[in-house]
Amino acid sequence: MQRIDHPLLSPSLGSHRTLTSLHFGKAGSGLKIYIQASLHAEELPGMLAAHHLRPLLEAADACGQIVGEVVLVPVSNPIGLSQRLDHKPMGRFELDSSENFNRHYPDFAKEILPKILAKLGADAASNVATVRAAMGEYLSAWTPTTELQSMRKALLSLAFDADVVLDLHCDSEAVMHFYCEESCWPQLSPIAHLMGSRAILLAKDSGGGPFDECLSGVWWRLADALKQQGLDHPLPQGCCATTIELRGELDVTHAYAKQDAQALFAYLEHLGVLQTGNRPAIPQPLCLPTPLAGSESLRAKGPGVLVFAAAPGQLLHKGDLVAEVIDTMESIAEEVRAGVDGVFYARIRDRYVTAGCEIGKIAGATPFRTGSLLGN
Ligand SMILES: [Zn+2]
Repeated sequence: MQRIDHPLLSPSLGSHRTLTSLHFGKAGSGLKIYIQASLHAEELPGMLAAHHLRPLLEAADACGQIVGEVVLVPVSNPIGLSQRLDHKPMGRFELDSSENFNRHYPDFAKEILPKILAKLGADAASNVATVRAAMGEYLSAWTPTTELQSMRKALLSLAFDADVVLDLHCDSEAVMHFYCEESCWPQLSPIAHLMGSRAILLAKDSGGGPFDECLSGVWWRLADALKQQGLDHPLPQGCCATTIELRGELDVTHAYAKQDAQALFAYLEHLGVLQTGNRPAIPQPLCLPTPLAGSESLRAKGPGVLVFAAAPGQLLHKGDLVAEVIDTMESIAEEVRAGVDGVFYARIRDRYVTAGCEIGKIAGATPFRTGSLLGN
């Protein structure tokens, strides 16, 4: 294993943060898999899973069982991890800019398309290499002016040429679920089922520029652009990227983390990056994929104390009671009911809500939403 420390841009005199990556195997000897944890810094199940995955990878590396490269970034957001306000962690938005740490990644396709058009040809593998080289050149030429930009650049510089990118997050209170773009499904189905995913949410451009879609989106966007220009250069999905939601923020236990690390390890065996002699069986799916545009975000109309009637993972039908919002001034209980059939896959942690507050999400099968599909 090789550890590399990447200094981030210093935002202030006397302050200097570092991003650390752990590299297993040998670059260029096979597939490259990139795994990062806790880009939303208070989402810690992935960080503990990475802690349990690391010794498994170290042991495999020492035995020469890694064919290809695995890059593990257990702490992908050192900026957010150190942010606190009123004694509470503040790891989702940078306090300086109010930007979400998992948004505003660049649209690579728009940036590199004019530079690669003349270099593409009939060979798919060399087209993939051309695109990756152009992405690398774009990143090299990018001069960040803020610490946050320098962190985004450092993360992308580690991940841009990976075949598979796994971004480990979690929701507030939730069951295991997945977000990925349609172009990466069903290629990513083995890891979804190995992790025991209870909801799989597919989209084509969720909006907002999250990390995973920056890296998966470049491929289908370029392929679409080539088709629109009447060019038939073959361009496969060079990177399959997913955001894996490892249950809820409080689901930080060694038992879960060891289970998740084992699932990640098994997926690497499945891909052939780990050649341990074991070919893991892929478990039966616990759910079918549903469109992210069919996911209902339930909201409280008025303010009050939130009392849930439904638990994460529960299968709901349209009209089922999900929660009550109690206005204790007027002694009124507002009922929030399911608007679609599906798994109630995530809910908020707070038990007091203000008017219009989102309280939970149901993975419905029929698309009905448009525009930006991700939350804040
Ligand atoms: Zn997150």
